[in-house]
Parts: sequence; C-alpha cells; structure tokens
Amino acid sequence: MAARLIDGKAISAEIKGEVRRGTEELLRTRGITPGLAFILVGDDPASEVYVRSKGKACEELGFRSVTERRPATLGEEELLRLIAHFNADPAIHGILVQLPLPPHISEQRVIEAIDFRKDVDGFHPVNVGRLVLGMKCLRPCTPAGILELLARSGNDPAGKHAVVVGRSNIVGKPVFNMLMQKQPGANAAVTVVHTGVKDIAPLVRQADIVVAAMGRPRSITGAMLKAGCVVIDVGMNRIPDPSTRSGTRLVGDVDFASASEVASAITPVPGGVGLMTIAMLMKNTLQAAGG
Ligand code: NAP
Repeated sequence: MAARLIDGKAISAEIKGEVRRGTEELLRTRGITPGLAFILVGDDPASEVYVRSKGKACEELGFRSVTERRPATLGEEELLRLIAHFNADPAIHGILVQLPLPPHISEQRVIEAIDFRKDVDGFHPVNVGRLVLGMKCLRPCTPAGILELLARSGNDPAGKHAVVVGRSNIVGKPVFNMLMQKQPGANAAVTVVHTGVKDIAPLVRQADIVVAAMGRPRSITGAMLKAGCVVIDVGMNRIPDPSTRSGTRLVGDVDFASASEVASAITPVPGGVGLMTIAMLMKNTLQAAGG
C-alpha cells in the first residue's frame, strides 16, 4: 500500500479536545454550559444509535443534553410545537431533529422551523445561504469534517483540483461550496459529478483531491485515480459478509485496496469521515452557545 492513512480517529479526538477546553472556558468566563436538544421521531434503530452516541459525546465534553423521543405517529404540528419550545429555551443552544422523519412529516418544513442560530446540523436555508456567500455560519457537520481532515492531515486544498462525486444537500453540495471559497483551508478548483454525467472516470482522473459521496459501495477504483491524489471516502455502505458475526460489513464508496495503491493519502472506512461528524456537531454547538 502506497497511500498514507488519514486518521479520522486521531483528528476527531483532537477536535473534541479543543471543544472540551472551549467548553470549560465558556463556563469559567461567562457561566454558559452548551445545551443540545435531540428529537427522535419513530424507532429507526440506526437513528437510535446515532442519537445515543451524540448524547454520549455531550456527556464527555461537559454539555447539557436532552433527548425527546416521540412515536412515528407524531403529527407535524406537534413536532413544530416541540421545536418552538426549544427555540425559546435559553439553556438550549442547538436543536437536532434526527433524520429521516416519517413520510407524513415534511423534513424541509421541520428544518426551516428551527431557529437558524440553533441549527447545529447546518441545514437551515439561512445557514446554507450564508455558507454559499462565504459568511460565518453553522456549517453542516460531515462536509465541515472533510475540510478539517484535509487541513489537519497536511493536504491543503488551495490551488488544487477537487472532484466531488455526488451532489446531495447534506454532503456533495456543501463540500463543493466550502472547497471553492476564497478562504484558508479551501480555495480549490472544484468539479462536481453525479448520475447526469455519462462517464465520471475521465473527470475523476483529473482530481488532486477526490471526495466520494455517492452511496455506492466501492465504486471509485484505483484505475480511476491520478497517481498521488488524496482520497476522502464519505460512503458508509453495509454489504453482506458471512465471515462477520453480524453477517454484514461497512465499506466506503471507494475500493480501498486498489485506490490505496495509487493515492498518496486516503481515509479508511470505518475510521475516517464517519468519526468527524459528531466532533463537528459538538464544535457547532459550542459555537452556537457563544464559544
Ligand atoms: P445521496 O443523497 O444518496 O446522494 C448520492 C449522490 O451521489 C447523488 O447526488 C447521486 O447523483 C450521486 N451518485 C450516485 N451514484 C452515482 C454514480 N454511479 N456516479 C456518479 N454519481 C452518483 O447520498 P448522501 O446522503 O450524500 O450520502 C453519500 C454517502 O455518504 C452514503 O454512503 C452515506 O451513507 C454517506 N454519508 C456518510 C456520512 C458520515 O460519514 N457521517 C454522512 C452523510 C452521508 P444524482 O444527484 O444524480 O442522483
């Protein structure tokens, strides 16, 4: 293997350490403890795991957190009332409604109901607009984590050509917008590819940095990469694997074995981008609390 591993475990731990110190300072200097409210609707097991691990991170870092669980039958108006309650609560600085929501609830309406100053997921149109304009805002956690991974592993995107595979609202579009800003830690030339592009391989092969966020297991292979490029694998795909106890295994959107022979640096799955998301959520909540 030629590529160096970009260690999401070490980098996320470094960020959590900074957040812990920032939290202590905010309490000491202004008497504020960051407060995060989780709202979980329904009983999706994956959402349950995510909310539990986010709650654990709050405990570790000295945040206050509350979790409101509601059945999948909850009406949209009731959910909006719960959000309004937390919008008005001065001890709560961040509100996270775990997605996906049951189909009878409009996710967009819910996102827009959250006070944008408490939108620690960075999905509110005000935060999205401010991000595009290059203004200070709450930035979506996974894309912000990707920029931290690049900066802290010594792979400054400035002047490089980045190719983002995928254009979702939660990963592809914000990564594109962050990488192209005229700002430290960004300033790249960025191409975005998606299913509307007939053959993505010739475009991916031009990339100094590849961000794979397509949700297709092991689709970006070594043969599609330029020698020495940096690969950020956002994909989290469960595939069958009879050799494991659960019968499944987590793999990325990149074929790690062949890509790591060609790239100069690569994120593993698991152990890469996935770990950054919670660290950035904590960073956002501290920022929302004034830290
Ligand atoms: P998504 O909403 O399904 O979007 C996938 C995007 O990839 C779409 O824009 C789609 O294009 C594009 N795409 C799909 N197949 C493609 C192909 N063969 N060639 C080119 N483009 C293709 O997915 P997402 O929410 O962005 O998530 C992407 C991956 O990241 C998933 O594996 C997800 O689990 C993972 N993820 C991880 C984290 C984390 O680590 N914390 C967070 C979020 C997501 P069209 O727009 O044309 O359909």
